[in-house]
Amino acid sequence: MSFYVTTPIYYVNAAPHLGHAYTTIAADVMARHHRQREEDVFFLTGTDEHGEPVADAAHALGIEPQQLADRNAERFKALAPSIEATNDFFIRTTDPQHEAIVQEVLARVRENGFVYEGTYEGWYCPRCADFKAENDIDEGNRCPIHHIELTREQEDNYFFRLSSFQQRLEELYAEREDFVSPRTRYNEALSFIRSGLRDVPLTRHKLTWGVQVPWDHEHVFYVWFDALLNYYTALSYANPGEDLTERFWPASYHLVAKDILRFHAVYWPALLMAAELELPEHIFVHGYLLMEGEKMSKSLGNVLDPFEVIERFGADALRFYLLREVPFGQDGSVSTASFELRYETELANELGNLASRTIAMLVRYREGAVTAGEVDPLLAEDFAGLPARVAALVDRAELTAALEEIWQRVRRLNRYVEEQAPWRLAKEDGRSGDLDLVLRTLAEGLRAVTVLLWPYLPASAERLLEALGDPDLALDRAELGAGRIERVHAIDSLFPKDRQASGA
Ligand SMILES: [Zn+2]
Repeated sequence: MSFYVTTPIYYVNAAPHLGHAYTTIAADVMARHHRQREEDVFFLTGTDEHGEPVADAAHALGIEPQQLADRNAERFKALAPSIEATNDFFIRTTDPQHEAIVQEVLARVRENGFVYEGTYEGWYCPRCADFKAENDIDEGNRCPIHHIELTREQEDNYFFRLSSFQQRLEELYAEREDFVSPRTRYNEALSFIRSGLRDVPLTRHKLTWGVQVPWDHEHVFYVWFDALLNYYTALSYANPGEDLTERFWPASYHLVAKDILRFHAVYWPALLMAAELELPEHIFVHGYLLMEGEKMSKSLGNVLDPFEVIERFGADALRFYLLREVPFGQDGSVSTASFELRYETELANELGNLASRTIAMLVRYREGAVTAGEVDPLLAEDFAGLPARVAALVDRAELTAALEEIWQRVRRLNRYVEEQAPWRLAKEDGRSGDLDLVLRTLAEGLRAVTVLLWPYLPASAERLLEALGDPDLALDRAELGAGRIERVHAIDSLFPKDRQASGA
């Protein structure tokens, strides 16, 4: 089994913000989960470096576009480790290997008869680096995303014959209802296809900052086609001396935000068909993180800096919060207040206390030793089949629902502590065996949920499993009773509350 997940490549003109962190964290949760299933996993992220906005910004700074791209790509590279993202490669669209394969694939698209010369005229947003369809323009000829005035542009280009894929795309959507999800996004893409596809420019004539068109050196490829192909090109050179294409293509999941739905759900499969390449299995479209009701983006200037959040609370807390607070696939509001509430009530009070109580009682009553034996049958029903249920949800990219399944068991374990009151058992004569059973069940239950939480809370989960003396992360070890805990060790608080006040 192989699993290949991608984030969009991030446009190098902006600084990394919470929206970028969000997609990368989600992809990382999926990658880690599939590694727990002992699958062959490849996780790709990177930067999109061509196009007019980068060239314009560089010229405004008096530097070359490549210099600007080099400078800003470093900031995106630094984002991944800071949020504990375990990407296997970081692609840059200025990599010469990428450029060579873009040229090769698009020359094949032309040889296959899907490219012709023409003149394009339309409303163009320089910030989107995209022409806007007539039905996608705000009042006063403004970009619906950037709210800036669009310019009327006309140029001689090569066109991609998107219209000739109308029927094949409709068939694709009919045959594969999970090609795009959630369902609202599937419907949106399908209705765009059904409204009638028109050919789109494949190249730009006036620009030089891009991948040169091999059959006409006065043109560069339109930045979107260059960018989309990253998902394919990366596999051929990510591991020097080894072509991973056979092993990982087609991609299992492309994670994208809804503003780039059309490129991924319509242009991308058509382009792959034109190049005779296999289509990805799934495109999952997540929503926006909203700040005061507006989409968070650099160009709107309402950015919450993920690096600040991480510095105060740690990357685990950010990962947990984003996937817990906003159902993955929907829009949702995020705020400092709701972050601090989740940190306090869920991470510190529910999981943190469960861990510290369980370990403290084992140390106090049993000097850390856990007796061998069965776990309490009282919890069997609550935990039966849990790893498979979580896996089924992650298979559909329902990362918030999967986390909720796990969190229900964190709460069940806390109720179990209250129901069994081990501190009373410890004082009663003849209840030593019962106390052993309760403590063993708590340690084992905590271990099982922690294995499942690892994709969301990797650093905390690893610390906790180490303290429980059973660090095996394989998903099948998340069955209650599959553990081999013999002795636990005290650890410092996983989610200290004073972190909030001290700002440390
Ligand atoms: Zn725009």
